Amino acid sequence: MKEESEKMAYLTLKGINKIYPNGFHAVHDFNLDIEKGEFIVFVGPSGCGKSTTLRMIAGLENISKGDFNIGGVRVNEMGPKQRGIAMVFQSYALYPQMTVYDNLAFGLTLEGVDEDVIEEKVKNVARILGLTDYLDRLPRALSGGQRQRVAVGRALIRKVNVFLMDEPLSNLDAKQRVTMRSEITQIHRNTGATTIYVTHDQTEAMTMADRIVVMKEGYIQQVGSPYDLYFNPVNVFVAGFIGEPPMNFVRSKVKGGKINVGKNVVDLSVKLDAAKLKAYEGKEVVFGFRPEAIVLEKEENTVEIKGQVELTELLGDNTNVYMEMDGVRSILKIDPHFTPEVDSKISFFIPYDAIYLFDGETEKVIK
Ligand code: ATP
Repeated sequence: MKEESEKMAYLTLKGINKIYPNGFHAVHDFNLDIEKGEFIVFVGPSGCGKSTTLRMIAGLENISKGDFNIGGVRVNEMGPKQRGIAMVFQSYALYPQMTVYDNLAFGLTLEGVDEDVIEEKVKNVARILGLTDYLDRLPRALSGGQRQRVAVGRALIRKVNVFLMDEPLSNLDAKQRVTMRSEITQIHRNTGATTIYVTHDQTEAMTMADRIVVMKEGYIQQVGSPYDLYFNPVNVFVAGFIGEPPMNFVRSKVKGGKINVGKNVVDLSVKLDAAKLKAYEGKEVVFGFRPEAIVLEKEENTVEIKGQVELTELLGDNTNVYMEMDGVRSILKIDPHFTPEVDSKISFFIPYDAIYLFDGETEKVIK
């Protein structure tokens, strides 16, 4: 019995829906179990419902339908404080006239916590966040990244069960974002706090998450580890959303078990069994391959594709090559030492393993 309960998920979201007072249905049937200590990232384009879901978890927005449990207890009707949840928002307003120490201590001071206890907690959080040398400074004498750390520290200092973050890095420049990404991952490792993090940035999701929840138009598309989502996307949306540059897609009707990728003919029997081939005859499929999943020399078990180079972008570690294949465009990521000339005609080869096929109608992956 004990083992059973230990295995039980820590946070469970069951059939969660949000219908705003104006009738807009922002979140549909959201189901997710979260284990203690997990780092979960909700990702998706603007308006997909990720902040709404986070706000329902925080208790800042009521849940229209469904059950939200923490440690087996239903908390739908509890306020944010009772739930033991702390949240860091996009705009982290620090008190400008207070030192870092006082900003960190503020919440505990209000609660009447003993000075000695506060000091110990502030010092501990400052140590975890690398703010020990800045405790006497005012926020205006800090960098954006340091201010963000104070904001995280203010949430961290309270004993909470769950830590929520809504686009906490959006006010930082590109370089600071990269630094803070690894810092937040490190903080999570040090504290072990169950964390739910919202972002529209797939790189943040890929680099930080234990598991990613991809959302679109209020619906969960897929839940999985970064590896899983990258290599086993369930549909065209996830395949296109995760990865930069995105996966290349070509739509084509199946004729005689073959499709056209520009003028190139690809025999689908390398991917589909006879029954599937037959079922898709005359129907549209989406052919997909990732920009980096190609080779330039012919190898066994590869499909040859010919095209013309439209544009190249040298990025240092690789070159993005924009290909034109009779009206079909795709991007290849290749070794910069082999950057082809613009307008030249080249062949590249896609390993069978790296080919994805999706149903043209449902856009779901064909297994
Ligand atoms: P973003 O990255 O832009 O913040 P998001 O994925 O977090 O997007 P939400 O803020 O959750 O999206 O919004 C989801 C949908 O619900 C959007 O279409 C939004 O316009 C709508 N919405 C949000 N708040 C309300 C509200 N109070 N009343 C009605 N509709 C709302």
